Parts: sequence; C-alpha cells; structure tokens
Amino acid sequence: MKMKRGIDMTDDSNTKAAMILFGATGDLAKRKLYPALYNIYRNSQEFHDFAVIGAARRPWDHETYREHVYAAIQPFVAEGDDVGDFLDRFHYYSIDVNDIQSYLGLKDMAEQLDHQYHLNGNRLFYLAMAPSFFGTVTHNLNDSSLSKTNGWKRLVIEKPFGHDLTSAQQLNQEIRHVFAEEEIYRIDHYLGKEMIQNIQVLRFANPIFEYMWNNRYISNVQITTSEHVGVGERAGYYDKTGALMDMVQNHVLQMVALTAMEPPSRLDTEDIRDEKVKALRSIRPVNADNVHDHIVRAQYTSGTIDDQVVPGYRDEDGVSHTSTTDTYIAGKLYIDNFRWSGVPFYIRTGKRLAEKSTEIVVEFKDSPMTHDFKGSDIRPNLLVIHVQPDEGISLKLNAKKFSTSNETMPVTMDFSSHGLDEYRASDAYERLLYDCIRGDSTNFTRWDEVALSWEYVDSVIKAWNEVNLPVKEYEAGSMGPSEADQLLAKSGHKWWPLNQMN
Ligand code: NAP
Repeated sequence: MKMKRGIDMTDDSNTKAAMILFGATGDLAKRKLYPALYNIYRNSQEFHDFAVIGAARRPWDHETYREHVYAAIQPFVAEGDDVGDFLDRFHYYSIDVNDIQSYLGLKDMAEQLDHQYHLNGNRLFYLAMAPSFFGTVTHNLNDSSLSKTNGWKRLVIEKPFGHDLTSAQQLNQEIRHVFAEEEIYRIDHYLGKEMIQNIQVLRFANPIFEYMWNNRYISNVQITTSEHVGVGERAGYYDKTGALMDMVQNHVLQMVALTAMEPPSRLDTEDIRDEKVKALRSIRPVNADNVHDHIVRAQYTSGTIDDQVVPGYRDEDGVSHTSTTDTYIAGKLYIDNFRWSGVPFYIRTGKRLAEKSTEIVVEFKDSPMTHDFKGSDIRPNLLVIHVQPDEGISLKLNAKKFSTSNETMPVTMDFSSHGLDEYRASDAYERLLYDCIRGDSTNFTRWDEVALSWEYVDSVIKAWNEVNLPVKEYEAGSMGPSEADQLLAKSGHKWWPLNQMN
C-alpha cells in the first residue's frame, strides 16, 4: 500500500471532491488556482473525479465561466491535450456571499454534482476572496447546511489571517465554529515552494548538516525575501499593512521556524508543526528597550530599477503623501533555547530592492586556523538555500589555489533543481492544492503558529509605537537603508550578496 504521512494514496475515494471556489472570477483564481488544478489533473493519476463550482457575484453562465477558465489554463495546455473533460467539470453559480438565501441554490448544485460525479459528499471550500468575508462565508455555510455533508469537508483560506492577534483570534473562533482545526488549511504559499519543502530534507536526511546545526558551529542565519516590484495595484491593502504584517508575520517567520526547529520525532504533520510552534515560542519578544537594536523599518524613495526611474512609495497611486507604512523591514531575532542561544537570525524583506530573491544563508563560524593562511582570502563557510528565483543549494568553501604554496580561494558547490531530468517547475499552489485534496495539512499553518507569529509582530509594533521608531528611507534600486547594514555590523556580521548561484 502506498502511504504518505498516513494517507492511503491508493484509496481514490478520498481524493474525489467538489471544490466550491468563492472568488471564482478574481485574480488569484485566474492566475494561480485554475492553472494549478489543470496541472494536477494532467499530471496525477489520483485527481480525475472532481467538480468545481465557481462562485462570485458576476451574472455569468457555465459557458462564460469555462471560457474564463480556459483562458487561464491555456498557456499550460500542450499541443494535442484534450481539455474538454477538464472544462466540463467547471460550473458557475452567481452569489452574493452576504445573502444566506442564495446558499440554498448553491447547496442544490453541490448535491447534484456530487451525485453526477460520485464524489462521496467530499467538499473543499476555497475562500479566494477578501478576508473580511471569511467569517460571513463560514457562518453561512453552516446555516445553509452546505458544510454539513456525509463526506469530508475542508476549508482553505488565504492570507492575511487577521491584522493582529486579537482579530486573528476572533476570525479563528468564527471559522472554528464550523470547521475543526484539522479541516482548516491556512495557506502560506511559501510553504509550497520546492526549496522551502527541501529544508527538512536537507537538515534531517543529511547528518553532516544537522550535527552542526547549532550555536557551537553556526555564527548567524540570514533570511531575505526581496522584491523588485513596488506596491503596484495593492496600495489600498498595503498602505494599511506594510512589510512587517504582509511578509514577516507569515512567510519570513515560517522560514525562521523551519530553519530553527528541532528534529520532529517523526516526519508527521502534527509532529512537525509541534516543533515549529516550539521554535516560534522561543523567539525573544521585542520591547521598547531593545527595539532600536533589533528592528529597522524603512520606506522607499524614488530611484532606478532595471534602467527605469520609479516613484517613491508616497508618490504611488493610492498611497497617502504622509504615509509612514514600512515597505522594508530588517530584524535581528534571537531564539532563546539551548540550540540557538547567542545566534542572531537576521531577517529582511522589502519592495523596490536591487535584487529579487528569497534566500536562507547559514553562516558557519570561522576555522580556528584562519589566521594561519596568511595573505589568503579565507571566507566563512556558507550554506545557501536558494528559494527563488533560482532553486537550489550552494555550499561556499575555501580551497587551495592552483600552483601556489598555501594560498586559498573561495569555491562554491552548487546543486540546482533545474539540472535534474525529472525536474518540472510546479507552482507552489499546485503542490498545496494537491495536498489539500489528499488531506495532507503539513504545509499549512496551524492556528498556534499563526497566533505566535502575531504575538511577535504585535510586540514589534507596540515597541515601535512606544519609542516612535523612525521610518528610515532607502532609494528604490538599492538593497535597503544603511541602518540595516549597521544592524549586522554591530555584531561583526554583514549581509551576504544574493543570487550568487553559479
Ligand atoms: P480579487 O481579484 O479582488 O477577487 C475577489 C473575488 O471575490 C472576485 O471573484 C469577486 O467576484 C468576489 N467577490 C467580491 N465580493 C463578493 C461578494 N459580496 N459575493 C461574492 N463574491 C464576491 O481578489 P484576489 O486578488 O483574487 O484575492 C483573493 C484572496 O487571495 C485575498 O484574500 C487575497 O489577500 C489573497 N491572495 C491573493 C493573491 C493574488 O495573487 N491575487 C496572492 C496571495 C493571496 P465578483 O466581483 O464577480 O463578485
């Protein structure tokens, strides 16, 4: 029997499902979800018995909806592929999610498709719409009995999950009223990325790294997720949110947790999540006394990116001219446990930066013999996990220069996913949706992870409000404000260059 994390993959009755997609006419559905569904359908043996009900306000009929879905998947359709069966499974239902009455027709449609496709009553509710609707929709799913089914039911929700701990708790209570914790799939799409999923393999399948994965051998860890793009069309949302809430609360802290966690007793969903929770709980909170030494917040001014002059944040459409929203955050985190005591985890994330990259750099301590290699360019060993745009792992070493006495030169050992024959660039949404359909919630965030992340972020915001931490400026096209370099320099560290994969 083929098993993965306790799921019987040969039992196809488990993967039969009706997907009820709220926000079916929106951007996320079009750019990510339809291509993901099509790729799963095309590439997996297990996912052929399904139906999708696309729900949104627009008064579309099934055919209009299918044309919309086809336009979204078209770039992924290979010549000769027959998409007829796939598209026939898409159905449209026009609904205002605030109107409980309209759920009754949706329920009828779900029951009819369940019968038609023999879906065993399994229902996947995907909320691809603004978070302000999450509570209303789950409430109405319950009151209309749509969520009461004799098969399994699952709820997929997008970020942001609240805007602080209190609002997240409130939202959680609302959805927990209808769905059990194990039925809730909180998406953090970074957890669907190939190299993020590779962190566990790298650490736990390679003893050479795991034995050294502690404060005895590691000097510091640097986690960067930097973007070229500015605020774009998201100004309305972003100006109320900023980099700390938009990126650190979820993606960055998830990367910290995966890098810092203890090995789980088994590679099982709950064991892994338990260890991530312990790591998050050990992050030292920020307060008014230490915020100056731990956090840099900044905003971009105008500058040049890819030879294009771009406006400063406050001159972007939809942004207030007096906005103090952070478009950049750098932080120094300490994880107060035996493994990491004294090792800074540096984090940074920002918009309009010179490099577009997500990387985790693990810097090892210097060799005690560094000084014996006089006149040599001896560098620290670095293990670099390239998450995007490159996907791979690099190990930076020192080697002897050819034909000289004892001089050294830096060398890099690279592994790139792109070189593999079996490599197929699958999108994070494809992996996560596939996991959802099979009931594997390992790569989704459990409630206590969300709550602890908000606790940290709330502590930062409270502290910077108390001391009125200034919002520094950085030029678009730079790598952030000089204060972020000083954050590391104080401890004798520096940011390592990004995108250095050979
Ligand atoms: P969007 O393009 O604005 O789409 C919103 C959807 O909600 C539309 O289908 C809209 O359809 C529907 N809708 C709005 N009000 C409704 C109502 N009262 N009743 C029924 N349907 C209603 O938003 P999005 O960019 O797809 O984002 C959706 C969610 O994903 C958000 O939580 C966002 O934060 C998250 N997210 C998005 C992305 C992305 O790349 N777009 C990435 C990460 C996370 P009608 O106008 O036809 O009603």
